[in-house]
This record gives sequence, structure tokens and C-alpha cells, in this order.
Amino acid sequence: MIKVQNLTKTFGDLTVLKSISFELQPSEIVAIIGPSGTGKSTLLRCLNYLETPTSGTIQIGSVAVEAEKATGKEITNLRKQSSFVFQNYSLFANKTALENVTESLITVWKEPKLASIKKADDILAQVGLADKRDQYPSQLSGGQQQRVGIARAMACKGEVILFDEPTSALDPEWVDEVLAVIKQLAEQKQTMIIVTHEMQFAREVADRVIFMEGGNIVEQGPPSQIFENPQNQRTKEFVARSTKGFN
Ligand code: ADP
Ligand code: MG
Repeated sequence: MIKVQNLTKTFGDLTVLKSISFELQPSEIVAIIGPSGTGKSTLLRCLNYLETPTSGTIQIGSVAVEAEKATGKEITNLRKQSSFVFQNYSLFANKTALENVTESLITVWKEPKLASIKKADDILAQVGLADKRDQYPSQLSGGQQQRVGIARAMACKGEVILFDEPTSALDPEWVDEVLAVIKQLAEQKQTMIIVTHEMQFAREVADRVIFMEGGNIVEQGPPSQIFENPQNQRTKEFVARSTKGFN
């Protein structure tokens, strides 16, 4: 359902993604871990064409795009196959929680306004924010804002939700409520790729963990392999450093 082949991204002289290939099955949940500056965000952003990949192919659902030949129409179609949850929420400051969720339903998906509002209200209720629908982002806590960010991603009809460190900008007190919403999505079999530094969460929720370093996938496997029996020395060192204190 998702197939990435030989994905490369360069910024000037810097090669950030070095021919990355991986696949995802429907309903699969993949966590991507790795040191900072390793290309995790760039990889996720390329999947949604928030960054333009330099070469390689990306297929999500029925839409396949070859980076070097992609047309505007193919890119628009590919972008509709995924939705993005940002580290810093990236909500529209001048729109209410409800309007943040309906915005792309109306503008991108061309859904009628009333149907969009009904759908957005349902989703806001699912993430526990029914009573905050008319509040602006500045009136919400960080955890509430990120739950609006997730609700916005849930509203889109794409195949996969891409999360880029969804809790790393949050005060510790708000982390659990956001992770709980993502767990709820996991129970509903939502396909997800989650870049995270929350190792315990990755271990609990992911079907598969990808360890990235230096623009490469160094190792991937079930959480039991990556966290308890890593095959690669680099994985072993990273996991040991990142999980210190909670084993
Ligand atoms: P991670 O998410 O793993 O921390 P990133 O994907 O954000 O890593 O960054 C990988 C590398 O690419 C870093 O060296 C970063 O400085 C560089 N990089 C990211 N975005 C840009 C950009 N727009 N222009 C130039 N370099 C960038
Ligand atoms: Mg990042």
C-alpha cells in the first residue's frame, strides 16, 4: 500500500536521504527512530511532498510518483493520500478548532460545508474536544492544540497519517493525552508512520520500528528485535542511550 524505492534527497551538496526503500501494509504502524539530523523529518516530508525528493519513487495507495518525472497533477494526487501531524501543530491561528478541521475538507476535498462541519464535530468528539470546537488555538493548551492537529489529519481521507515527533514540543503534562489519541487510532487500525523519540510508546504501539542514521535505514524489525535484540551495533548503541532509565 505504501512503497518507497530508492528515495534520495539532497540540499545543495548535502545528501540527507541516501536511497531509502521501504514498504508499509494497510493498517501497519511504523515508528521511525534515530538521532537528530538524520533525515527522519525530511523522509516524512518527502512522502507528502512538503519537500520535493531528488530521485526515487513513492507509491501510496493507487498513486505512484517518480520524483524526476512527477507532474503537478500527480503530486496533488499523491499529497491527498497522506495527512501530516506537525511537531509544532501548525494550526491556523485565526481559525477555531472546528474551522481548522473543516478547512481542508472544504478546500482540498470539496466537501459541502454542512457535511464537513458534521464530520469535524464527530472527530473533535473522538479526540475529546467537543467542548472546544469554537476556541482559537491561543485559547487551547499545547495538548489540546496537538489533538486538533490530529483531528485535522483524521478528517482527511488519505491512506496514511504521518506524525513528525507529535509530542516533542509539548510540556510533559500534555504528552500522555496526545499519545492516548494516537493509541486510539492504532486500535482503529489507522495506517501510520510516526517519527518519535518516545521509545516506550514506539515499543507499545508500533508493529515495526525503523532505525535511521545518516540518511540510511540501518535496521528495521518488530519492536522486540529493535529494543531487546538489535542486530546492528549502531542500533544497539542508540537504543541503549535512548532507553536508559526506564528498563
Ligand atoms: P531529523 O528529523 O532526523 O532530525 P532532518 O530531516 O530535519 O533530520 O534533517 C536532516 C538534515 O537535513 C540535517 O542536516 C538538516 O540540517 C538538513 N536539512 C533539513 N531541511 C533542510 C533544508 N530545508 N535546507 C537545508 N538543509 C536541510
Ligand atoms: Mg525531525
